[in-house]
Amino acid sequence: MMAEEKKTDEMAPSTMTAQESTAGEGANVPMDNSLEALQARIRYVDGLPREPHDEQNVIEVSHLMKYFPIKVGLFSRLGGYVRAVDDVSFNIKRGTTMGLVGESGCGKTTVGKTILRLNDKTAGQILFNGIDIHRLPHEELRRLRPKIQMIFQDPYSSLSPRFPVNEIIGEAVREHHIVPNAEFDDYIDQVMLSCGLQPYHKDRYPHEFSGGQRQRICIARSIALKPDFIVCDEPVSALDVSIQAQIINLLMDLQNELGLTYLFISHDLSVVEHISDTIGVMYLGNLVEHGSKKEIFSRPLHPYTEALFSSIPVPDPDVKMSRVILEGSIPSPANPPSGCKFHTRCSKCMACCSESVPELKEVETGHFVACHLYD
Ligand code: SF4
Repeated sequence: MMAEEKKTDEMAPSTMTAQESTAGEGANVPMDNSLEALQARIRYVDGLPREPHDEQNVIEVSHLMKYFPIKVGLFSRLGGYVRAVDDVSFNIKRGTTMGLVGESGCGKTTVGKTILRLNDKTAGQILFNGIDIHRLPHEELRRLRPKIQMIFQDPYSSLSPRFPVNEIIGEAVREHHIVPNAEFDDYIDQVMLSCGLQPYHKDRYPHEFSGGQRQRICIARSIALKPDFIVCDEPVSALDVSIQAQIINLLMDLQNELGLTYLFISHDLSVVEHISDTIGVMYLGNLVEHGSKKEIFSRPLHPYTEALFSSIPVPDPDVKMSRVILEGSIPSPANPPSGCKFHTRCSKCMACCSESVPELKEVETGHFVACHLYD
């Protein structure tokens, strides 16, 4: 690490543009924070080349692990680890939405937060447009932040009650020099309009808005930074059903208009079906199935996915639902079962399932499953 830092210092002067060099001397000239400029700078400044990657993919996650230590006793002795994310790999193509589903506590939100480096990773690699997010120096990470955003589940607690809406949306816009100061007010008005908010409400405070409007403010705050990728963490689960549809449609309209890429985390399978292009199914920290929405919804292959999807209600009284009821509760991620982690609840469990861990394999083009039934 020390060697890398030293190299960074040595290389920076020779690769700085005139504008950056001036900014470094204290002149008030903002650095070019476009993605292209950032990538070019990172290629040299951190002393690490951009990783080889598929240009179609905005996000490439390989073998991601995130373990949380368990502290016990008076002296906070290490008592083990919660394996929140345990070897997860997937890619998200530019301009598409990947839905990430699974029961509560399966690690969906931890994946989202670790991708954005809100959590440190334990192992693995996360590339954003070829940039290894977890190896970035802090200053470059700060400049990358506008490009990778998050929309949180609870619009009530994710907005500061002490700031009016234009400050909430505009604070980071100013900080990251997204638009020149002279255009700031018009820009905030424009962003509010594009998110279905009235600009004449910009001096109001969050408590003066309904739940749906607050989530629109959260979305406006994210897209005001001109991001490429947004993690949407259960963005509609705190809202009424009628408002949920409006917010989902807004996210889809913004995606078409701005070419955004989403990781959409939810336990609501109907919502995920509506918005996603691809689906990942997680169980106890592992991705057990991954593929196109059509494939996963029409032909789920993993027994856990079958059980999960059999619970989707069908709005037709003549259709008889054949629901698969899972026995038992989800095991502790601090002490997961051996072999396939689902074997304690699987109706198709075989002798080998408790002994060997199934690998995530491509059983059909673009359809990945981790189950010994498909070995
Ligand atoms: Fe069930 Fe075995 Fe497949 Fe696990 S590997 S899902 S226990 S059949």
